[in-house]
Amino acid sequence: MGDKLVRATAQNGSIRIFGAITTDMVDKAVKIHDCAATAAAALGRMLTAGSLMGAMMKSDRETLTLQISGGGEAQGVVVTAYPNGKVKGYIGNPSVDLPANSNGKLDVGGAIGTNGNLLVIRDMGLKEPYVGQVPIYTGEIGDDLAYYFTSSEQTPSAVGLGVLVGKDLSISAAGGFIIQMMPGASELVADLITYRLQEIPSITDMIMKCMSIEEILEYIFEDMDLNILDSLMPSFECDCSRERVEKALISIGRKDLEEIYSEGKDEEIKCHFCNSSYVFKNKEIGELLRNI
Ligand SMILES: [Zn+2]
Repeated sequence: MGDKLVRATAQNGSIRIFGAITTDMVDKAVKIHDCAATAAAALGRMLTAGSLMGAMMKSDRETLTLQISGGGEAQGVVVTAYPNGKVKGYIGNPSVDLPANSNGKLDVGGAIGTNGNLLVIRDMGLKEPYVGQVPIYTGEIGDDLAYYFTSSEQTPSAVGLGVLVGKDLSISAAGGFIIQMMPGASELVADLITYRLQEIPSITDMIMKCMSIEEILEYIFEDMDLNILDSLMPSFECDCSRERVEKALISIGRKDLEEIYSEGKDEEIKCHFCNSSYVFKNKEIGELLRNI
């Protein structure tokens, strides 16, 4: 199944649903960052969450950044998402590779750690971005986001995120969903959904069975008036460019730039998000200095 993200409602709009298959998107990111298995699962879950939350944004100019840093070997994961389904992100330590946890699953919670916070930074193009923050609950990311929505945004939510990493470290399946109870949703329905989510196979199992995201949601919300609203194409894309990196280089200040220039050195700057490398020859640094 190709990647796809859908927005939907159920029970006459009292339940809001975002669901996605992100296998290709996560595979691309994991290859760019050369991730070990546990790192791949952690980064993939964060990227999937980012694309789902990007699809919640109301304005085209809005961006959202998710940061989780719990003191574990992963050294944090950062993801930036846009309203059109595009995401970019990186993990502090792409080599983190832990033994499986007690459920036989990749130990994302162990890699992230629980000594820190999950931050949700919403930049709506205003002067100050809005920053929401919760302490990390399990470090498994889905649980932490559910806790964030419920406590910080007062929207009871269920979040499922899954990444299945193959033996060759390619991504066999990745996807997720966010289910939110809007004001007016009945408690009975909330209980029913909680029960269904405990009964169903994992999202990666369903993707492996070649179910589409629509089929997966139809399965979860059987007899609950599922209404698919629209869809987006999630993708991993970085928006860095030589011009942007040049601006960042200028922003270190004339004094530091002059120092680099006078030492006769070239300067290489790598984009954290996509590992692209930008090399500024010493002569070019001289030109930048003249143009400041
Ligand atoms: Zn980049």
